[in-house]
Formats: sequence, C-alpha cells, structure tokens
Amino acid sequence: MRHYMDIREAIFIYSIKNALDYGKADSRSVLNKILAKIPEAKKDIRATSDIVDEIVLKVNAMDRSEIESEAKKHAGEFEEERKRKVEETSKPKMALEGAISGNFITRFPPEPSGYMHIGHAKAVFLEKEFANVYSGKINLYFDDTNPEKEKQEYVDAIKEDLEWLRISFDSEYYASDNMEIMYECASKIVSEAHGYICMCDADTIKNNRMHGVECVHRKQSREENMAYWKKMMDGSFNENEAVLRLASNMKSANSAMRDPTLFRIKKERHYRQGNKYSAWPTYDFNTPIIDSIKGVTDVIRSKEYELRDELYYRILDLLGFRKPILHSIARLEIEGNITSKRKQNELIKEGFISGYDDPRLATIAALRKRGIEPSAIREFVLRFGMSKADSVVPMEMLLAENRKIIDRKAKRLFLVENPVKIIVEDKTESAVKLRLHPNQDLGYKEYVVGNELLIDGSDAKSLKQGGTLRLKDLFAVEIMSTDGNIICRTAADSKENLKIVQWVDAKKNVKCTLRKIGHLMSGDKINIKSIEDSEGYAEEYAANIKDGEFVQFERVGFFKLADSKHMLFTSL
Ligand SMILES: [Zn+2]
Repeated sequence: MRHYMDIREAIFIYSIKNALDYGKADSRSVLNKILAKIPEAKKDIRATSDIVDEIVLKVNAMDRSEIESEAKKHAGEFEEERKRKVEETSKPKMALEGAISGNFITRFPPEPSGYMHIGHAKAVFLEKEFANVYSGKINLYFDDTNPEKEKQEYVDAIKEDLEWLRISFDSEYYASDNMEIMYECASKIVSEAHGYICMCDADTIKNNRMHGVECVHRKQSREENMAYWKKMMDGSFNENEAVLRLASNMKSANSAMRDPTLFRIKKERHYRQGNKYSAWPTYDFNTPIIDSIKGVTDVIRSKEYELRDELYYRILDLLGFRKPILHSIARLEIEGNITSKRKQNELIKEGFISGYDDPRLATIAALRKRGIEPSAIREFVLRFGMSKADSVVPMEMLLAENRKIIDRKAKRLFLVENPVKIIVEDKTESAVKLRLHPNQDLGYKEYVVGNELLIDGSDAKSLKQGGTLRLKDLFAVEIMSTDGNIICRTAADSKENLKIVQWVDAKKNVKCTLRKIGHLMSGDKINIKSIEDSEGYAEEYAANIKDGEFVQFERVGFFKLADSKHMLFTSL
C-alpha cells in the first residue's frame, strides 16, 4: 500500500475492507493492520486505538450499499494489497541448503540443565517445520554429559514444555546412554595418536591457547597416552587432574581448533547414570558422534557455534563417520529480559521474581502461565526463519501475535477505571442482552441495569453540560449537569459522531485488580515497575469468568483471569 499521509484515511479504508470481507469491521483486526502497515501509528498506540474504535463504529453503522460504494472508491488500494499478498505467499518456502526431501532427519538437542526459553522454541519450531517441509523426521536428543549441571527435573520440565508446544518427536535419546560408544571413539583417537592426555591446570591450558603454545604433554608417546586414557576411564584421576585433548593445531586461526578438550573428569553423581562414569565427553565430542550414529542429516544450531563447525567435522573425519550438514540460526531474545540462569536465580533468591515461570520471564513455562498460546509462539518464532541477524525484539511483538489468536475466544466485557458516577434522570432501569463476542458464538450477557452507572474517569473528564454521549450498547444521553455526580437524560439516538463509552452498573459490578506486566529490565537496571497493579470495576458478568479464561475489557485491553479468588487479571 502507498504511504499514507493521513492515519485516519488509512484506518477508514481498512475498516471498509474489513467490513466488506466479514460483514462487520473489527477494531482489533483494523488496529493490528494499521500498526503493521504504518510506523507512525505505533507512536501512540492508545491514541491510534481510540481513532480505530471511533472509525470502526462509524463504518459499522453504514449500510451495506454505502460500504460497497466506499470500497469501489478505494478499489485501487485493495488491488495493490491483494497483489502484494499473492506475491508474498508465492515466495519460495523456507529452504535449507543441501537438505534432501525424503532423506531428512534433524534433532532438537536441549541440555537438561535449565528450563526452555523462547530461543529454544525458535530452534525446535524451525526444526519441526523443516522436518515437515522435507518429509523427514525430528528427534529429541538430551545432551547430558555434564553431571554437575543436569537433573531429571529439567528433563521432565523440557518434555512438559514441548508437549504443551504440541511438538512430537520421532525418537528420543540421551547422550549419556551412549557412553560406551564415546569411550570406543576416544580410544580410537588416542590409539591413532590424534589425542593426548594433558595434566596442565586450567589456567595454563587457557594461557597456552591464547598464545598458541603447545604444552609438554603434547610430546607424550602414544603408549603413555593410552595408559593415561585408561586411567581416566577407570576413575583413577581426580577432577581437574587430566583431560583428553585433540592433537590439533595450537596456532590455528580458529581458536576452537587449538587442541580442544574432548573428555574431562567429573566425579559428581549423574542424574541418569549414577556413579558409573567419571570421564565425561564434552559437547564438542559427543554431539557429532551421536548425530552421526543416530542418522541425523541436518543440524540446525545457533550461530555462536559456527567457530566449532570445523571441530565437529574434524572429529567425524578422524572416526570415519558420516557427516551431517550443519546450518546456523541467529539468536532470538526478548527485550528487557533475563536469560542468564545465574541472574534469574539471584532474582528468585531476592524474591523479586517468583520463579522460572514468573510472567515477566521469557521461559516457555512463564509464557504459558502468562496466557501466551503455543500457536502464537510458533507464528512469532517462525517469522525470523533462517535469518542470520540476531534479534532482540520487544515482548509486544509476541503479545500482538497472541492477541490475534485469543481474540476469537476472549469475551468482551465492560470495565471502568477511576470510576465517575453518572445518573440517568429519566430512566429507572433497562434490560440489556448483549453478545459476549461480536462475531464468535460465545453466548450472551443478559441483565437489568439501574439508572446509576459508572463511567471511566478519563471519559468523564471531557464531559460538559449540554454535551452528548453514547453509553455503548445502551442509549445516547445528553449531559444536564456535571457538578458532583454527572446527571444526564436519554437523548435521541442519532448517527452523529457521538463519543461512545463503556459503563458498568454503579451497584452491581465486580471489583478487579488489573496487573500490567512490563519489562523486567530497564536498560541494565532492574525495572521496579515491571508489575503494576490498578483497580477496575467490571460489569456483573465478570463474576462468571473462570481461572485462565481470556477477556477483552473493551477500550482497555486483553487480560487473562489469573486468580478468580482475588479477581486478578493479568495484561496480555
Ligand atoms: Zn598439558
């Protein structure tokens, strides 16, 4: 679409299009479209949203013939939009270089040392997508060769998250179940003089790597190395006394190739293997081997591993194993969030966040608790595709995706904040029967309202004597007085450009807490206002909302009922 000088004009055109397509224009769809198309509209979303509400109402009051005639006037714009859509959907589907349809196996390789977050979700949804595109398979591979960090609790949590994300796997395996193969492979490498046992301390190893210097152990004979390797395997070495290193090139331009560590000693009990082993392979050693023996053809891993691709292939070359293709993806993070487990733990200890599923975090458990739908996460992560650009994106982007999905199930309710009483002088009571959703069959709310109502403080502010107002879905009123309580009388309903406001019965309403969830961090500081609670008064029907249900408080926003006992709603 061409660049609009006027946001109002654009909103009008989209509302007409929406009404033409669906019978009635929907504020949320129009707003999403405008926000996606017109950058300026994002500067003040609340203001844009108000204009959208106003124009959508106007359009919905138009006859079908008027809508059609307006649509004709803007036929050019619609055509452009249609062409663009066709172009977009006919673009080549996501592709992986070298991947072969019908002969494709990939895997999702979490380490059970923590909880899944949005970055993991990106990897697994992409892998699942490619498995479908290439008529292949996806395996679940627990990369668990560090007994100090890994726990069954994390395996269970990861599986629970994956199930919730509705991702199924063709097979499931654990690195630690393949230790005998690891030992065989390492023995081959040592016996062929491609590896040596280094007994330097960690600092020396680090310094030598930095300066490209070989240590004395590199000169050991093959027989000496074989003997030491046996000692490593049978548990004779203590932690940090010996490591198995690849005899590579300490002067390599690629720092990952400067005699990397393949095995180290870890005496801690392993959550799955107990005390059976004390020499444990590193990620760099076990990953290529397990991938190769499990038939994986295509590996998708984070771009930060690119330097280690050479090592991955070198190990398979030395063993004479089949080589999968490595593909890199960029990192995905949520702005103002914390992914470091150490920092998360600190905040949990301090009591600032409630746990790994605190709704301000971007762990999958947190997103689930907050009310983000799995399909929203999928849509959101897939849009980054195989792009190599790292992304730190605002949570709002995921929330917008989520609102598209929950929009269909969210009941529409009225709620006012900072309430101001308005008395309708010439009425006693009115029967109301309203749909709970404008275009989904979610049933009705039906009750009798008295003549004392509450309206939102911000709406009340602009009222003047003699002014008119439409109480949404009720009637229009003329303001008689604004001293103290607002006094009004019903007025003739006209198609004029009346301000339309939500209201609740002054006597029968439900007091609610609205919890607005913001960014955990503000720059590099903790945002102490990341959770803000305020009060609101919802219409009577709110008492029927169940825990976990979504609502849209009209002109306020989408919420999930987090705790029905306290009528606590959290923002979406
Ligand atoms: Zn050494």
